[in-house]
Order: sequence, then C-alpha cells, then structure tokens
Amino acid sequence: MKQILWFRRDLRITDSAILHFAKDEVLPIFIFDKNILNKLSRDDKRVTFIYQSVLNLKKELKSIGLDLAIFHSSPKEVFESLKNEGFENILCSIDFDDYAKKRDEQIAQIIPIQTFTDSFITHPNDCLKADGTPYKVFTPYYKNLSFIWDSHKLIELDRNENLKLISFDYEKVPTLEELGFKAQKLVDFLQKSADELIKEFALKIDNYKVDRDFFDKNATSTLAVHLRFGLISPREAFNKIKKLRSGTENKEFFIRELFWREFYNYILYHFPRSEFENLNGINVNWNEDETVFQKWCEGKTGVPIIDAAMRHFNQTGTMHNRLRMIVSSYLTKNLLVNWKKGERYFASKLLDYEASSNIGSWQWAASTGADSVPYFRIFNPYLQSAKFDKEAVFIKSVLKELKDVEPKKIHSENGVQSNIFLDYPSQIVSIEFSRKRAIDEFKRANNEKN
Ligand SMILES: Cc1cc2nc3c(=O)[nH]c(=O)nc-3n(C[C@H](O)[C@H](O)[C@H](O)COP(=O)(O)OP(=O)(O)OC[C@H]3O[C@@H](n4cnc5c(N)ncnc54)[C@H](O)[C@@H]3O)c2cc1C
Repeated sequence: MKQILWFRRDLRITDSAILHFAKDEVLPIFIFDKNILNKLSRDDKRVTFIYQSVLNLKKELKSIGLDLAIFHSSPKEVFESLKNEGFENILCSIDFDDYAKKRDEQIAQIIPIQTFTDSFITHPNDCLKADGTPYKVFTPYYKNLSFIWDSHKLIELDRNENLKLISFDYEKVPTLEELGFKAQKLVDFLQKSADELIKEFALKIDNYKVDRDFFDKNATSTLAVHLRFGLISPREAFNKIKKLRSGTENKEFFIRELFWREFYNYILYHFPRSEFENLNGINVNWNEDETVFQKWCEGKTGVPIIDAAMRHFNQTGTMHNRLRMIVSSYLTKNLLVNWKKGERYFASKLLDYEASSNIGSWQWAASTGADSVPYFRIFNPYLQSAKFDKEAVFIKSVLKELKDVEPKKIHSENGVQSNIFLDYPSQIVSIEFSRKRAIDEFKRANNEKN
C-alpha cells in the first residue's frame, strides 16, 4: 500500500497522526504553496520561520529512516503529477478555513484524502448541546468538555515504526530566495524549540494568572507560533503543562486559554460564514474613511498605547494578548472601522496568525461574534495603559520620542500633545466622543436586528 504523507501545519514527528496511521510505503511531502506564497510580501517573517521548520522536519524524518520531498508549486499541480503513481490516498491534518476546505475538496478529486484532527485537541463535533446544535458561548462549551481538561494525560499517538520510504527525488530543496523571499531576522523565542519554551514557562507559570496581562512582563508561554505550525501538538503541550509541579490554579488557567483556541476553531467549523460576516447578524454602519484605518496601521493615532502596540507589531510580527484586545477595541469601537479590515491586517503580519483565533477574537472585540463583549463595554486605552504599563516601560521602549515624558502624561488624553516641542501626532478622535458614537451606533444596529 502506497500513501502520501502531506505535512502542512503539523511539522513534527512526535504525536503525529499521519505517522501513526500510515500503513506501509510512504512518500512524505511538504508543498510551498504558490497560491498562498504569491500573496505574501518578500519580507514575510513567517516564511523564514516555516522554511527553517520544514528543513528541520526533513532532518528529523531522516533520523527515523524517512525523508521529505519539498515542492514549490500548487497542491493541484503536485497531486496531478503524482496521480498515476499508484497512491492509495493522502494522509494529512485538517483545517477548517475557507481556502483550506476548497483546496482539500479539489485535491480529493485527484487522489482520495484522509484527514485527522491533529492541530486541535477536539473535533468540533465532539461537543454539542443536548439538542445537537453547537454552543455559541465559551463557558458552557468549556464545561461540557470537563472530561478532557480534567484528565491528567491525553493520549499521544506513537509512530508506526515499520514505514518504508518510497524512492523519490528528495535532494531537490528550493532555497528561500528561489521561493521568492528574503531571510528575515526573527524574534528570539522563535529560535527556541517548543520544549525549551515550556521549560522557561515552567519557571514563571506560578504567576501566569496575575502577570499575563502586563505586557512588559513576558509572563506568557509564547507557544502560539509553535502550536500554529504544529511544532508541538496541542495534546503534548497540554500533557507537559499538566505534569508541571506548580500550583493547580495557574495550570488550569493556562489550559483554559488553550481551550479558547479550541473554541474559536469550533466556531469557525460550525459557523463558516463568520469568516466573512458578523456572526450575530447585526448591520453596523462602519466608518469607511481609509485614512483613519491607515493611521491605525502605521501607529499614528495620537494615542501612545495604540501607536506603540502597532509600531512594535509592524517591526516584529508579534503583539501581546492584552495589546491585541486594546488595539482591536480602539479600531472597531473608537474609530468604528469594520473588524474585517483589522483582521486582514493582523493576518498579513501576525507570526502566530491562526484564521479561527484571529477571526473569533476580532469578532469578539467588535461585539459581532459568538461570545462577544457587550457593545457598551469599550476599553479606554489610557486607563488600560495606566493599569498594565504603569511606568510606560513598553510604550517608551517603542516610542523613543516619549522617553523623557512622565508616565502620567502618557496615560492621559492629549497629555503628550500638551508638550508642543514633541513631534507626536494629534489624536484622530476624542475618546469620549468616539465612545458615545460607537454605543449609539451599536445600540441602533442591535435594536434594528431584534
Ligand atoms: C484581536 C485578537 C487577535 C488574535 N489573533 C490570534 C491569532 O491569529 N492566533 C493566535 O494563536 N491567537 C490569537 N489571539 C489570541 C492571543 O492573543 C494569542 O494566542 C496569545 O497572545 C499568544 O501568546 P502566548 O502563546 O504567549 O499565549 P499564552 O497566554 O501563553 O496562551 C497559551 C496558548 O493558548 C492559546 N490562546 C491564549 N489566549 C487565546 C485567545 N484569546 N484566543 C485563542 N487562543 C488563545 C494560544 O494558542 C496560546 O499560545 C488573538 C487575540 C486578539 C484579541
């Protein structure tokens, strides 16, 4: 029996469904998908990271007597070329975003596909209400899954040791330049393995629940990118955290966060239109002024915490969770810009970009989602920065021009602008005015829906 093992977002050899379920003769492959790559800029940091991870996977596969054929093409072309080579099927892990679903439907017409839920702990159909419909709110969904998150260890999949490598041209490996990209400098934590990150996190997990919101504290696991590309399976991450000898409360809190990732995948699966539409069906009259959106993207809104977060994001491709909440609230509420624009902008740069988490989180911030904040709860960016960056350490590390400004001024509206010698943009909108405008508009939209 001949099978193709198509590695996509599961770039690992431990706890791998495809290496577990494969039967006999295998051709492991990775495709640098031209349909995706052609839309990215030449300096996309994620491609450097994926490229390194694919070469590493090839090395690991070789260490267990296998190898990895690497293509730079479209999946359709690759499988058309393999169609008459006698393969029984293709094994791969499943993805539920629109592009992935259409791609897999197309490929299944060429060679049958067998998919596995290997990037998430649960399959979205594993957790339904008594009447068979999906949950829309996180807490009851999570409670329903207590039999999973309460357990000490999830089953990990061992490797079939008897696989035989099909002979193929494994030597041809395109360079990053041949793929059309320039090597990028990556943030430090991406040079580390998932195991190393978990070891470092183990030293600080006891403060996770309290410290995780302070963006100058580096108190979170930074595992999101590794989870995104499957350098560690979520089951293995779960088991490793459960095994730590630290207090249960913080561990439980971390596991709960992991299930937010599950929940958003669940929502995208059951409500696929949420990729394109307001999930709660309201019709908001968004602000179409493009210059306002551009100022947000460039970090020139005149609100120090927003500008620092966005400029840091543009430089590194990373953003702390609390900052993501603040900038998404500011864009969708204070600036009243459609969440889809923010979602697309994050998607274009975020190293840990995960369609389901990103779409779900943006809809949450915009109060248009499944389990949303009420529309009248709007973050005040100045109160947020005063609370979570009291000494303005993070803000000053990015906005060097504010290095001599008192933190109190940075945390008050127009405080920085009151210093006429500073070259700092004026605020696009006043916080109070824009807050009221958003509440009025969301109230109208919600009333008209009901
Ligand atoms: C507007 C917005 C957009 C976001 N877009 C993404 C995205 O594209 N990809 C992504 O992985 N996360 C996204 N998040 C969630 C969250 O910001 C990141 O998962 C987190 O910052 C990653 O850092 P960490 O690994 O140190 O997290 P930790 O605090 O260490 O959490 C551990 C893991 O749990 C998961 N997780 C934690 N919080 C969330 C959450 N709120 N939603 C979903 N999963 C969560 C992640 O996989 C994370 O790695 C978004 C949040 C917001 C508000």
